[in-house]
Amino acid sequence: MKRYSAFAIAREALRHHSGWERAWASPEPKRKYDVIIVGAGGHGLATAYYLGKNFGITNVAVLEKGWLGGGNTGRNTTIIRSNYLQDASAAIYEKSRSLYEDLSQDLNYNVMFSPRGVMMLAQTHHEVRGYQRTAHANALQGVATEYIGPERVKELCPIICIDGPRYPVLGALWQPRGGTARHDAVAWGYARACSAMGMDIIQKCEVTGVRSEGGKVRGVETSKGPIECDKLGVVVAGHSGVLAEMAGFRLPIESVALQALVSEPIKPCMDVVVMANTVHGYMSQSDKGEMVIGGGADGYNNYTQRGSFHHIEETVRALIETFPMISRLKMLRQWGGIVDMTGDRSPILSKTPLEGCFINCGWGTGGFKAIPGSGWGMAQLMATGASPLTAEFSLDRFKEGRFIDESVAAGVAH
Ligand SMILES: Cc1cc2nc3c(=O)[nH]c(=O)nc-3n(C[C@H](O)[C@H](O)[C@H](O)COP(=O)(O)OP(=O)(O)OC[C@H]3O[C@@H](n4cnc5c(N)ncnc54)[C@H](O)[C@@H]3O)c2cc1C
Repeated sequence: MKRYSAFAIAREALRHHSGWERAWASPEPKRKYDVIIVGAGGHGLATAYYLGKNFGITNVAVLEKGWLGGGNTGRNTTIIRSNYLQDASAAIYEKSRSLYEDLSQDLNYNVMFSPRGVMMLAQTHHEVRGYQRTAHANALQGVATEYIGPERVKELCPIICIDGPRYPVLGALWQPRGGTARHDAVAWGYARACSAMGMDIIQKCEVTGVRSEGGKVRGVETSKGPIECDKLGVVVAGHSGVLAEMAGFRLPIESVALQALVSEPIKPCMDVVVMANTVHGYMSQSDKGEMVIGGGADGYNNYTQRGSFHHIEETVRALIETFPMISRLKMLRQWGGIVDMTGDRSPILSKTPLEGCFINCGWGTGGFKAIPGSGWGMAQLMATGASPLTAEFSLDRFKEGRFIDESVAAGVAH
């Protein structure tokens, strides 16, 4: 793989950009791999990358039924933060956030990580107490957050209306090193690095069945024929229940459509990310100037990848209360993704009842931020059989009642 550099840009500018290599190869599947990962979203690709980088396991295929990053990884609103309540969550989300800090250098691919700061508004007394508690928990966990008052909120984000027609802004949980990154670039950067290590990323290859023998995984059936493997990682977000059924077990997951929208581009007016969970909406400004707006999840299970239209009105209404200056903005696009929700709003990174088969899912509305940390932990789990980052997130917790309740940090907020 030729490294990207300022020198390479100058060289290619002089020869009409004719010398760039393809970022990743498009091979046909081999008969057998040591590891197959199903799903070329961020989590699947990051798992493959850290298997190679941290454990030297490179005889790996990542199988994707569509195009890489075409699932939720390319559909989210890119918020990155680690201000969760429980210790296990803080550990994996903060690991992830800290990996984002130099991911561009690590992958030699600009993922445009922008630690511009994330604030979660407190608009009821319950939220004030909840976020103050989270700030104290974060202090003990070594996650840098603080609870700030309304004047500081206004100072950080002048376009906010802190008086609010229904809910005044009473304060906020502020994480100064939270922010955003370019979602496609995260998938593309990991894919390019995996391909450079000799891994096969096979797009338009749908897994249609899981082969097993004597309770142990043997391979998968795909739209490109059967492929054998010693270990299988299932990393398919909203389709996890479908894959689990193929592998012969059930998951405590519900799949729902979550949607987002963007406005026409405008001049820079907001350099932080704001989440307003009581009125239910959140917003940031992309580098192109569009206001990136997150909406709600459908109240019923489905696989539609578009979301219902009434959410657009509800979301925009909520945001106009918080940011009256957006009332005359035109909305450009709206889209949805199928998110995988667990009852405790925490992910599952786990061995499964089928030996050699591992599952990574349940990131729900908030897994973009977790991609590097989840890949790091999942690779360790698959390579060695255990990881301190994933230990608490095993499937057993649902049998044993060891829930990791993150409904405040992850119910509406992303
Ligand atoms: C509108 C929206 C806004 C969001 N906002 C945020 C946010 O601001 N911050 C945040 O942290 N998170 C956010 N999220 C959540 C985040 O996008 C997801 O948690 C994360 O992208 C999940 O990544 P993944 O790699 O697990 O899944 P995906 O990116 O969905 O990848 C799974 C892949 O598996 C493939 N697949 C499925 N079935 C098969 C099969 N049978 N064979 C082969 N391949 C298969 C799919 O095609 C897909 O590409 C948001 C999600 C949505 C929908």
